[in-house]
Amino acid sequence: MIRVLIVEDEKPISDLIRMNLQSAGYQCDCAFDGLEAASKVENGHYDLILLDVMLPEVSGYELMPFIQPYGAPIIFLTAKDSVEDKVKGLKLGADDYLVKPFEIVELLARVETVLRRYHLTERVLEAGGLVVDTASRTVKKAGTEIPLTKKEFDLLLFFIRNKNIALFRDKIYENIWESDYMGDSRTVDLHVQRLRKKLNWENRIASVYKVGYRLELD
Ligand code: CA
Repeated sequence: MIRVLIVEDEKPISDLIRMNLQSAGYQCDCAFDGLEAASKVENGHYDLILLDVMLPEVSGYELMPFIQPYGAPIIFLTAKDSVEDKVKGLKLGADDYLVKPFEIVELLARVETVLRRYHLTERVLEAGGLVVDTASRTVKKAGTEIPLTKKEFDLLLFFIRNKNIALFRDKIYENIWESDYMGDSRTVDLHVQRLRKKLNWENRIASVYKVGYRLELD
């Protein structure tokens, strides 16, 4: 299981991140100041660190040279939407940054991207009776392969990794088609329909009124 250290002094934000990462299948640990973060990094093994810039005791920037040698990728969380902060974080060696407040879908996407870059994503996912192999890009149900197109496969993974979250059509579009959403809801709808049919997931992929879709998994 992938272990994430959340370094964030604001408890409500820390809780929000933790709950969402946990429900996405990550194991989470939290540190609420720079010193606690340093000691956790020293004593535990983490696959990813989410690091707030403005922390009591020792700032996120000051922590960087200490925690970097441990090798875990780092995503900065910054409240300031200033170019200087982003550049400084990346120059110090962070893998990415998120500007607060951010949407949970955005957080999960960034986490996923960084982990993928480090080949840390789980290779085989099991969800709703399916076995999804992300390396061979195959989907099996009761041992039988279900042929999916590239986009259908990407869409399925996106749903599984964001299970039980209502996903807006524009977010789905931007993540799967990697371009700006121009209001073309038909593309998303058609792919969802085909995916539902192929997987026999008519009830699992629920339509969310005025939003988009939600994959419902226990
Ligand atoms: Ca803070």
